[in-house]
Amino acid sequence: MAVRDLLGGLIRLHILHHAAHEPIFGLGIIEELALHGYKLSPGTLYPLLHGLEKSGYINSSIERVAGRRRRVYLVTEEGRQALALAKTKVWELFRELFEVELSFSVAGKVGPQDHIVGDDGLSKKTDAKLDRKHTHKRSIKKAKS
Ligand SMILES: [Zn+2]
Repeated sequence: MAVRDLLGGLIRLHILHHAAHEPIFGLGIIEELALHGYKLSPGTLYPLLHGLEKSGYINSSIERVAGRRRRVYLVTEEGRQALALAKTKVWELFRELFEVELSFSVAGKVGPQDHIVGDDGLSKKTDAKLDRKHTHKRSIKKAKS
């Protein structure tokens, strides 16, 4: 499976997210997605937009901008509901994908560098928190086997 196929759902959600905030158009969304590292050609994007429209998640209409016709897309009520559902799924997946990173920030406002800054302004190791993390991992393994 191509990476683009794997990421297809994320790209569709990204499009839906923006169409829920304002009318979007092809070239604009290509530029927006490029900012997030997705390089899409019109030949890839338009089938995605048409698929979303066919599913009833977005509606399109023709707008005149500086004398030129432009097709713009806006979320439908069905699309809004689908987006809300998808957001709960993305949230669940996000929490699982970043379980380790999130546990650090919850445990004591520390980043990946495993240090926290004490009241005296000095950096100190957070071995206790790391140990707790390892214990947690072990208990997950035990529960599964
Ligand atoms: Zn975006």
